[in-house]
Amino acid sequence: MVNKANLFGYLVKHKWRYVRGLFLLILINVLQVLVPKITGQIVDGLETLSLDDRKLLYYGAILILISLMTFVSHFLSRLQVAGASNRFDYEVRNVMFDHMLKLSMKFFHRNRVGELMALATNDLGSLRMITSRGFNLMTNTLILLVSSIFIMVRYVDPRLTLYSFLPLPFLVLVMTKFGPMINRRFRRVQESFSDLTRKTTENITGIRVVKAFVQEDYEKENFAKVNQENFDINMDLVRLQGIFYPLINLISSLSFLIAFVYGGNLIINKQISLGDFIAFNGYLGIIIRPVMSIGMIINFAQRAKASKERIEDLLNEEPDIVDTVPDNPGPGQAEDFHGRIEFRNLTFAYDKKGPNVLENINLTIEPGKTLGIIGKVGSGKSTIANLILRLYDPLEEGQLLIDGVDITKTSLKRLRDNIGYIPQDNFLFSSTIRNNIGFMPEEPTLEEIRRAASISQIDESIMELPDQYDTILGERGVNLSGGQKQRVSIARALVRDPKILIMDDCLSAVDTDTERKILNELKPFMEERTCIIIAHRISSIQDADEIIVLDDGRIIERGSHEELLELNGYYNRIYQRQLLEQEIETA
Ligand code: ADP
Repeated sequence: MVNKANLFGYLVKHKWRYVRGLFLLILINVLQVLVPKITGQIVDGLETLSLDDRKLLYYGAILILISLMTFVSHFLSRLQVAGASNRFDYEVRNVMFDHMLKLSMKFFHRNRVGELMALATNDLGSLRMITSRGFNLMTNTLILLVSSIFIMVRYVDPRLTLYSFLPLPFLVLVMTKFGPMINRRFRRVQESFSDLTRKTTENITGIRVVKAFVQEDYEKENFAKVNQENFDINMDLVRLQGIFYPLINLISSLSFLIAFVYGGNLIINKQISLGDFIAFNGYLGIIIRPVMSIGMIINFAQRAKASKERIEDLLNEEPDIVDTVPDNPGPGQAEDFHGRIEFRNLTFAYDKKGPNVLENINLTIEPGKTLGIIGKVGSGKSTIANLILRLYDPLEEGQLLIDGVDITKTSLKRLRDNIGYIPQDNFLFSSTIRNNIGFMPEEPTLEEIRRAASISQIDESIMELPDQYDTILGERGVNLSGGQKQRVSIARALVRDPKILIMDDCLSAVDTDTERKILNELKPFMEERTCIIIAHRISSIQDADEIIVLDDGRIIERGSHEELLELNGYYNRIYQRQLLEQEIETA
């Protein structure tokens, strides 16, 4: 595959920040390593009484200067390294989002929302960890270990160093063994906590349903179960941490114990001075943390490697619906459609191995005409809309043409720009009503938006809201009723002034009266456009020029309303039933 994504490239861009950060970290560590040496000298000076007030002040000043320089270098190195890591995170996040928008519907069916979100949170988080904290830890560990060991061996005593180091490999072992276990349990604690939160939120938001269905006891039991799980998982973590931290302390104290006994012996035998002994203990204190860090770095690196691969997999995922005429539209490609839609022997399955969802569809809708589609749930109605929008490409056989051209030979932008689509699930964004209706590249004027909204019978209701078209929808704003949402969603399709209008069961949440009003208002609009109305109610489609009845992916009846009634088949049965329902309702 060409153009394979490599996240390393995004990191290399910030190499100079890392180089500056590295220098600052070296400076910090050198300063830190100096401290025990100076303390040792002070102790020796005090012991031999060779220190006077001035010298003591001098040493004090040096120690303060070291602290100050360490402070400033810490601040600057953090800016460099965390700055680079944040930029990396920011860029990769953007690239991931852009790429995800390009991917086809199939990808989103294959991957659950939670998994995709985890890429942007957990996986990007573990890369951030290795590129900032991991980098600092690695640098510090390396410099501190090498310099401390060098000073301990060179200026104090090699054997003392060797003996006191004996327990330290166990420290690395404990860290690499327990680290991932703690991580795993910690993640489970977080997951269980989010389960608990979800359960609580669900019960609060759905309190009406819980009460209406007298499910308080059931929900109480359910909640207690989730809460118990959360408790158990937390206790698991507590137990593990209960062993982990004391074990670390035990191993490090062993090092100090050896240093104390063996080092004490060396002082008694006058092989090292008391100052050397104190400096040595200082170095031992300094290197315990880096030694522990080795285990942590190994864990970070393993997690980051897996995360890097997962994110790269996403970036390497190729969209399966691609433009064949991307930037260079041929003759006629920039123009609006006339709107002639033709299905030629089209057979379609969502999955190669799956069943055919549409079979041998032959259908032509002339410009300006309206097609009504009716049929049972799952008969393939929405699939027809999906194919015209080219959300999926026909896998099996046949062709779908618009104005006589196969839709795969038209650019996706041109195709979708020419279609006004009103989906079944009328999804609205948590933004203003104006933004929701004017959801298109060139923002329409308020007049255009209001015109579209009045055709869909929602303008009046919007004008009654305190902020009118600037009203924010969603959790932080106003919640519209199902029918109102559908009407906003209809206005969103109309304002684009499309050549083709597809209404996927979008009138089901409005009453028959409003439906009639919307269809009446839409009439002049529809006369100039090719329309497809998918519906459950005959009243939504009875004026269509042609109506098809779908059953299990096949057209089983077709014709005008009158012709279909005469057929005395499925359509007629539905019609009679709906007529009866209406009579009962109005009775
Ligand atoms: P309708 O709109 O008539 O209710 P659809 O066109 O949505 O029916 O679905 C037709 C059939 O295709 C159903 O059996 C449905 O389960 C299946 N289907 C719909 N969408 C997908 C998809 N993305 N992947 C796999 N199968 C699907």
